[in-house]
Amino acid sequence: MKKLIGPFSQVLTLAGLPLKGALEDEQLEIIENAGVSIDENGNIDEIKSFTSFVLADFDEVEQIKGEGVLIPGFVDCHTHICWGGNRARDYAMRVAGKPYLEIAKAGGGIQDSMRKTRAASEEELKEVTVSRANRHLSRGVTTIEVKSGYALDIDNELKMLRAIKSADQETKADLVSTCLAAHMKPKDFEGTSKEYLDRVLGVLLPAIKKENLSDRVDIFTEETAFNVEESAYYLAKAKEQGFEITVHADQFSTGGSKVAVEVGALSAEHLESSTDEEVKLLADSDTVATVLPGASLGLGMQYPPCRKLLDAGACLAIASDWNPGSAPMGDMLTQGALLGAMEKLSTAEVFAGMTFRSAKALNLMDRGQLEKGKLADMQMYPCEDYREILYNQGMLAPTRVWKKGK
Ligand SMILES: [Zn+2]
Repeated sequence: MKKLIGPFSQVLTLAGLPLKGALEDEQLEIIENAGVSIDENGNIDEIKSFTSFVLADFDEVEQIKGEGVLIPGFVDCHTHICWGGNRARDYAMRVAGKPYLEIAKAGGGIQDSMRKTRAASEEELKEVTVSRANRHLSRGVTTIEVKSGYALDIDNELKMLRAIKSADQETKADLVSTCLAAHMKPKDFEGTSKEYLDRVLGVLLPAIKKENLSDRVDIFTEETAFNVEESAYYLAKAKEQGFEITVHADQFSTGGSKVAVEVGALSAEHLESSTDEEVKLLADSDTVATVLPGASLGLGMQYPPCRKLLDAGACLAIASDWNPGSAPMGDMLTQGALLGAMEKLSTAEVFAGMTFRSAKALNLMDRGQLEKGKLADMQMYPCEDYREILYNQGMLAPTRVWKKGK
């Protein structure tokens, strides 16, 4: 069934742009008064002037009335949207200046989410995940990575990953799951960090493979979680088992992105504390530099060195880090707009970071640009010019979102 949608005031295709390095808005391809034709598999066939299509060639014509700017659906390559409970109390303590350790002592932090996530049923976790994914979808996010890592024992990590898998069946967004059992060593594990990682490697990862629950493994590399040696050991072993690798790197101290590059990770994520040395390392590698402005906003800390990363030639992806603790907002568009203003990014760099460059972090090269053969994952904003989208700093919402042309 062939379908035609249009006319759009503008289609911002993001086609033809490089995966790495700085971008200028002059490089953007903009097609005015355009139509988009979509094939029976939900892929884009052609984008050109709406009036040059022959309407009789299509099984369905979806007419757009009034003005509208079409851009690719966003790809959020780093979230933790499967969790039980909330951490509003932590947040209030943190913004009032209470140190992290004091909050943890008062029963807050990841251990709090862990208790509530362990207590939730698989069905409950599935439902909250679907509801958050659908909110994201209504805001133009058509592909969403979702991490486990709030259960931190074998059975409950499997429960989280099963909940994410069944959530994927119930939302129209694509969910990509990642095992983050190496988020931190749970307080009730009696043994060293290395022994905990060995248990994950020996028991959990084979079970994940067997049930086909995920093909991605992540670790929180930080002195307070898993150090550089432990991370390098764990990731190399996970890679041997056939998992793709991603790393929570350089959030509070450096070391993580070096591990990520050395192990050949798809992405190094966070990077708030990266120095010129890590910037160069990432720029010279194939590892995507994923930044999470929502975490800077949630923790009141500096943004990652995005301008430097782009100028050095890195592939910069922007994701929400949506989670109950440090990044509760979960709004990619607002965060991308604010990051652009703070880090002096072009509109092209922000949109590339939230679309095809973040798709690269998930190794999904079939989406994030509007061109022949790519998925018709698209969103339309009620405006005449693409620059109005970031200009409104998140307050202009998409009025239509398509997943595979539907
Ligand atoms: Zn995270």
